[in-house]
Amino acid sequence: MRPEILFPLYASITSLKGVGPRVAPLLEKVAGPLVRDVLWLRPHSVVRRTPATISSAIDGEVMTFEVAIESFEVSRVASRPTRVRVFDQTGFMTLVFFGSYGAQLEQRHPVNARRIVSGKVEDTKYGLQMVHPDYMVAPDKAAEVPAVEAVYPATEGLPPRRVRTFAHEALEKAPELPEWQDPAWLAREKFPPWREALSRVHNPESDADLSPLSLHRRRLAYDELLAHQLAMAQRKAARRREPAARIPAGALANKVRADLPFVFTGAQDRALADIRADFTAGERMSRLIQGDVGSGKTVVAMCAMADVAEAGGQSALMAPTEILARQHCETITGPLAAHGIGVVLLTGRDKGAARAVKLRALASGAAQVAVGTHALFQDEVVFHKLQLAVIDEQHRFGVAERQRLQAKGHGVHLIAMSATPIPRTLELTMYGDLDVSRIEEKPPGRTPVATRAAPMNRLDEVVDRLRDAVAGGAQAFWICPLVSESELSDLAAAEMRAKALRHLLGPGVGLVHGKLTGGEKDAVMADFADGRLSVLVATTVVEVGVNVPNATIMIIEQAERFGLAQLHQLRGRVGRGRRESACVLLYDPPLSETAQQRLDILRRTDDGFAIAERDLELRGGGDALGLRQSGLPDYVFADAFAHRDLIATAGDDARLIVARDPELKSERGKALQVLQELFDWKAGLALRDAG
Ligand code: ADP
Ligand code: MG
Repeated sequence: MRPEILFPLYASITSLKGVGPRVAPLLEKVAGPLVRDVLWLRPHSVVRRTPATISSAIDGEVMTFEVAIESFEVSRVASRPTRVRVFDQTGFMTLVFFGSYGAQLEQRHPVNARRIVSGKVEDTKYGLQMVHPDYMVAPDKAAEVPAVEAVYPATEGLPPRRVRTFAHEALEKAPELPEWQDPAWLAREKFPPWREALSRVHNPESDADLSPLSLHRRRLAYDELLAHQLAMAQRKAARRREPAARIPAGALANKVRADLPFVFTGAQDRALADIRADFTAGERMSRLIQGDVGSGKTVVAMCAMADVAEAGGQSALMAPTEILARQHCETITGPLAAHGIGVVLLTGRDKGAARAVKLRALASGAAQVAVGTHALFQDEVVFHKLQLAVIDEQHRFGVAERQRLQAKGHGVHLIAMSATPIPRTLELTMYGDLDVSRIEEKPPGRTPVATRAAPMNRLDEVVDRLRDAVAGGAQAFWICPLVSESELSDLAAAEMRAKALRHLLGPGVGLVHGKLTGGEKDAVMADFADGRLSVLVATTVVEVGVNVPNATIMIIEQAERFGLAQLHQLRGRVGRGRRESACVLLYDPPLSETAQQRLDILRRTDDGFAIAERDLELRGGGDALGLRQSGLPDYVFADAFAHRDLIATAGDDARLIVARDPELKSERGKALQVLQELFDWKAGLALRDAG
């Protein structure tokens, strides 16, 4: 139930004065459908309207002058503007008005009248001009011209000043709300009360007031972070209350593990220990395993699946693409089958009788592990006793999809895996409702990938060396950027590159891109994986997961167009075996300083977490890492970078609140419910979140 005190903010924007059928769609475009959304608008700059002299006019600046009117040149046709010549002691200027109301203007502002005019000055070949002044008032009305004015985002047909009027009206409708923050913390941080903070947002006095680091902005950011952390902490607590099967650490998993031709790294051991602790707690597990591509996440999950099988349950491992599902299946089938654990692969391509056999094996419990794609959560798939869902590249699935898979059993434990390195500071905002195990260590024996950057004009050299390497039996990825599947020019560039390379290197050059069907893609990938192709030109489709151990060369064209984390993941496709691998980052010069720094970072380290941390610093929040697709929430006031110091505090605060007052029944708890309502971060609204 929404608290009554918030009704005015949850009213439609049409409840604001002056927002009728014409304005409403425009304002909705700028802000949103609710008064609250208009209240959330933030000015992007401030304009000072301190009076100046005409001789000091600067082209392009918003300025204010006190002038006298010298003459009118009234337009009689709509296409010609009315021009008003004005002056002060220091010079002349022309005010320009389009439209056919020149006569009215002349009546309101007669020759010789004194006026204060304020607006953007332009220095044109006709002299100084001001087109449609923002203000034009008699000197006794000078107070109508604000000394400092906030400039709001606007849209065609709705100028910033109208938006500002609406924002101020929304502010007036904002009630005083009960304080939800801890008073001691407010005092320590010198945070103003909520309404005062908003009032400062809409009445900035200087650029400093617009900074995310200003106290009022930090207050609002903290409110938002706390609302979010609280929702996640509540969800985590609720999940903990859901009973789930206790699964003991079994002997079978240890045998599976002992058979592997390698020993677990310390980080893998710790991740498995985390899972096993969750398994025996009697609560439903939701654990994220974060680690670079090739850090050994899948084999850890495999041991967890063996534990489940030994305890009489089933597991499902879901991957976003068919290629990946196949690879996972190949990785785990051998070790598991050797100990009597049955694995079936289920993808969209299974049809008819073969599919029916697999479905029966899952329904009867004859198979203990299902590996597959989206096909796994379709209605016809029934499990005998599903107890564990493992989701690879979890951000590629919607929450609803993961839930559909988990709904195929009771109290199904969840392991999510992600190879997108998330800086520690952001982990809490993205995965606050999950427990996280980080695999920060790579299996031994991997040789670092020799990485270098080269300008595009050295392409010939790069191709020459590629030819030599291919002649010696090496395989290479050649990546062309594809910003979106609909970017036809990018697709054409990839096709051209494949053609050019075929011309230079011979027929062993394949091409995969997003426009191919799943089957076509798989066929090309299989040709490459089996060595029938030596060079695979690809748009970013190979970004995730695919394993071709023989590939040792990665060439990335227009590397400056990729995010650092993405480059890191692409590079992770090579260097998987013991052989020397190389990565060439081709760029179009000149590189911006930041782009230069980014490529440098990549050359210096291959630790995904360190790279993510540095990239965040370099680019400062925003969508630095392409994180938005991977689940970074779209905050209004909070900025994952500028307010990173507040994230951890909000997380601690939220956990403490949930521990002491899980139902939010106390005085502060009730105020916190209002806060959650304000930001739409409610425990039930799982769909906006990662877990
Ligand atoms: P991820 O799922 O993190 O990408 P995988 O579990 O698929 O990584 O492991 C990548 C490759 O490394 C696989 O071939 C796997 O057999 C191998 N591997 C995993 N753990 C180790 C280890 N501790 N030592 C050596 N090789 C390992
Ligand atoms: Mg993997």
